[in-house]
Amino acid sequence: MFEVSCASCQASFEYNPDDYIHLCPYCSAGFIIDSEEGAKDLIGDHYVIPSNIQKENIEEIFNDWIMKRYHNPSKIKSEFNILGSYGVMLPYWVISVEAHTFWSGHSAKKNLYPGRVRDLASGYLKEEGRFSRRYRWAILARKSPKEHWGLERLHHPRESVMVDWEGFPLDETMGVQDEGVKPIYEAKVPFKYEQANEIAVASIQTKELSAVTRAKDQINEYHRRMAKTKIGTLYEHRTEIEVVGLHIVHMPFWFIRYSFSPKSFFKFFTTVRERRILIQGYTKAVLDAELPLNTSDKVMTNIVVCGTLGFICLTLSVFISPLFYILFVLFVLIVGLSSWKIINREKTDLDTIKGKENNEPVGS
Ligand SMILES: [Zn+2]
Repeated sequence: MFEVSCASCQASFEYNPDDYIHLCPYCSAGFIIDSEEGAKDLIGDHYVIPSNIQKENIEEIFNDWIMKRYHNPSKIKSEFNILGSYGVMLPYWVISVEAHTFWSGHSAKKNLYPGRVRDLASGYLKEEGRFSRRYRWAILARKSPKEHWGLERLHHPRESVMVDWEGFPLDETMGVQDEGVKPIYEAKVPFKYEQANEIAVASIQTKELSAVTRAKDQINEYHRRMAKTKIGTLYEHRTEIEVVGLHIVHMPFWFIRYSFSPKSFFKFFTTVRERRILIQGYTKAVLDAELPLNTSDKVMTNIVVCGTLGFICLTLSVFISPLFYILFVLFVLIVGLSSWKIINREKTDLDTIKGKENNEPVGS
């Protein structure tokens, strides 16, 4: 076991080769060690967002959340069970950028109005435009976004744009805070272990340079997809990204594991399994959650209900009126379509899982 002495207070502590920035557990100073010369470089611009959640608040937060989602509030106590919870301070590189985008393309729309040019050869309309955005783009400073559940897709854009990156614009992502509470970025204070409110502090593993590169790639792709929503065929897209600031910020997150074991009719259609919720520790917003009943459960219920009704109609068509036979065919159709949906869903799910595994960073 190696030890390293703090660049600020000289106290020695255990050296972790996976860390890029070493954090002193005694004085909270952060420093980088030059691998060739061994020189230590103290870092500034390291902040922490205080946690507003403690272990004893978890039950209340969970109950508030499930109350709004479950159709039968009186049964919540008997059907839902919190299996465990933990909080962690995760380090993010927060990169302030200005992004300017120019795009051009052709649209198939035929309606002309002043300012648009008609391409005589095709009858299509040529369009172009510009837009600019400012972000505080957050990139996790850990080697794997899979370490904790729910961190791989925190970005939910306002535009109808598909997202396949793990970074996100900080100000739009972390949930709306209560009135009188400062926006998350303004709540930051210089990093001190004491501010973590006794939850674990994850160390900083990745370099700022790789974070900036990833943030630029993600913003570029985000803007390209945004431009694509404005036009039929996108011909050209250019996004210039200017980095105006860079900080490392530790942000609190809480994870709850719960189980759902329905006492009602639904118990025949769900498997009792663990489900998870991701909560922002400062805003207390639920950022992601696995719901008690997923689509397959509902489609499954559909199959059973329609199957039963179909059987009843078949019986009635024999004994009462052949008209019931039409209803029987209808219900069988619904059962067929539902089964097809479930089978297809499971296929796609497997594919996504495979794809994700392939994308995992190797050996970094
Ligand atoms: Zn120290």
